[in-house]
Amino acid sequence: MSDVEFLIIGGGPCGLGAARRLVQAGTTDLRVLERSQVFGGLAGSAYVNGWTWDYGCHVQHSHYGEFDRAMMEALGEDGWYHHERASWVWMQQRWVPYPFQNNIHRLDPADCARCLDGLREASAKQGSYDLPPADFDQWAQRTFGAGIHELFFVPYNEKVWAYPLASMNAHWIGDRVAVPDVARVERNVAERRDDVAWGPNSTFRYPKRGGTGAAWKGLADLLPDAITAPGSTVVAVDLPGHRVRLQGGESIGYKQLLSTMPLDLLARATGDAALIGHAEGLVSSSTHVIGLGLKGQMPEVLQGMAWIYYPEPDLPFHRVTLYSNYSPANVPDASRHWSIMLEVSQSPWRVVDEERLIEDVLEGAVRCGLVPARDDVIEVWHKKLVRGYPTPSLTRDAALAALIPALEAHDVASRGRFGMWRYEISNQDHTFMQGSEWADRVLGRVDQEAGPEPTVNRSNWVNARHRE
Ligand SMILES: Cc1cc2nc3c(=O)[nH]c(=O)nc-3n(C[C@H](O)[C@H](O)[C@H](O)COP(=O)(O)OP(=O)(O)OC[C@H]3O[C@@H](n4cnc5c(N)ncnc54)[C@H](O)[C@@H]3O)c2cc1C
Repeated sequence: MSDVEFLIIGGGPCGLGAARRLVQAGTTDLRVLERSQVFGGLAGSAYVNGWTWDYGCHVQHSHYGEFDRAMMEALGEDGWYHHERASWVWMQQRWVPYPFQNNIHRLDPADCARCLDGLREASAKQGSYDLPPADFDQWAQRTFGAGIHELFFVPYNEKVWAYPLASMNAHWIGDRVAVPDVARVERNVAERRDDVAWGPNSTFRYPKRGGTGAAWKGLADLLPDAITAPGSTVVAVDLPGHRVRLQGGESIGYKQLLSTMPLDLLARATGDAALIGHAEGLVSSSTHVIGLGLKGQMPEVLQGMAWIYYPEPDLPFHRVTLYSNYSPANVPDASRHWSIMLEVSQSPWRVVDEERLIEDVLEGAVRCGLVPARDDVIEVWHKKLVRGYPTPSLTRDAALAALIPALEAHDVASRGRFGMWRYEISNQDHTFMQGSEWADRVLGRVDQEAGPEPTVNRSNWVNARHRE
C-alpha cells in the first residue's frame, strides 16, 4: 500500500465517520486500515443459524444532524424502525419503570419511604457542600440520598461498571443520569403514578434488517473500495517517522493519523516507555454478551419492553435487551421464535467464572422468570468484548491529559470509544462525530461557533444540545 496523507486505524463508527467526511470533502488520499474483514467494530452484528445478534444492547439516538443524515444514507429512510425506550427495572420480584427514582411508589412501602426520605434530605443539602463530590459514589449519595443509593444505585452500577463506585470520577456524568425532581417524585408517590422515561418524544431507531452492524456495513459500502483495507492489523507506530507497520511487515507513511484502536494498545505500539506508563492509568471492564434464542411466543409482559435492568446481585446479568422486539428479522421465524440478549460485566474486581457463565446466565434467566423454561432455549450465542466499557476511573483524566497531547505533537489523534477512553462521548453518534470532526480539523474546516472538535473539547455542550 502506498503512503497517504490521511491514515485511519479502525473501521468502526469513528473511523468511518472520519473517512466519510474526508471523501465528502473530495479527498482521495486516505486509507482505512481495519483488522477485521468486516467494518463496524463494537457496533457490529453477528449472524448465526438465522439469528442476528449485536455486540451488546445498541440503542441509537443522536445529538447530531450529520449523524442522522449518515444513518439515512446507510440504510435509507425506510430502513429503520422507531421504538419507544420502554425500560424497566426488575427487583424484589416486581417491575419498576425506569427511571427508578421517579417510580419508587412501586417498591414496598417501607423501602419507598426510605427512598423518599433520603431524596428529601439530599435535596435539602444541595448547594451546601464546599467541595464538589470526590467520586461517583459520593455524587450518587448527594444526588439520590441514602435509600436509592443503597437499594438501587450502588448494586446496579457495581454490576455494570464492575468497579467500586468510589474508584470512579464524578464529572463524566453530564446528562447521562436523570437527576430527580423531588416534588415530582412526591407527587408520583402520593398518586401512585408511573412516571416513565419513554413515549413519542423518547424513541430510538433500529435497523429493520441486519442488526446494528447493518448500518455500519452500509456506510462502509458507500466508501470507495480503494480507500478501505480490511484484514489490515497495525502492530507498530513510528511516531517521529510518521509510519505504521502492519502484521506481515508492510509499512505505510502518513501526514496525519487517526487512531481508533484502544489507546493503551496504541501506546504500546509506539514503544514509547513514557506513553506506556501513562496508559497504566486507563481502566476498563470486559462485557460478555449472551444471546438466547427461544422457541414459542414471548411472554406477554415482555412484549412492549425494550430493555430491563437487573440490579440484584444474585443474578449475573445487569441488563437484558428484548432483542426480537427491536426487529422481527433478528430471529429466523418471528411467528415461532423470540430472542433476548443479556450482558455481564467482568473486571479484576468483579470476577466472572467464564467456564460457568452460560450455565449461570441460563439458570438466572429461568429463576427470575425471564425465560419460561430451560427447554425453550434453542440457540445460545456468546461474545466476550475484552474491552467493553471505558471506565471513568479516578486516574483516567490525568492519563488522558498526558497521552492525547503527546500523541498530537506527532500528528496522531487518538479518538473513539477506546481511543479517547471517555465514556461520556462513547456512543455511536459521539464516536462517529469524533471521527468526522477530526477530519474537519485536519482539513482546516472548523465551525466558528462550535470550535474545533466540539465533541472532544466541549462534551457537556454537545450533550446538553440533546436535552434542548
Ligand atoms: C456493550 C456495549 C453496548 C453499547 N451500547 C450502545 C448503545 O446502546 N448506543 C450507542 O450509540 N452505542 C453503544 N455502544 C457504543 C458503540 O459500540 C461505540 O460507540 C462504537 O462502536 C465505537 O466506535 P469506535 O470506532 O470508536 O470504536 P470500535 O467500534 O471499537 O472500532 C474500532 C475498530 O478498530 C479496529 N482495530 C482495533 N485495533 C486495530 C489494529 N491494531 N489495526 C487495525 N484495526 C484495529 C477494530 O477491529 C474496530 O473495528 C455500546 C458498546 C458496547 C461495548
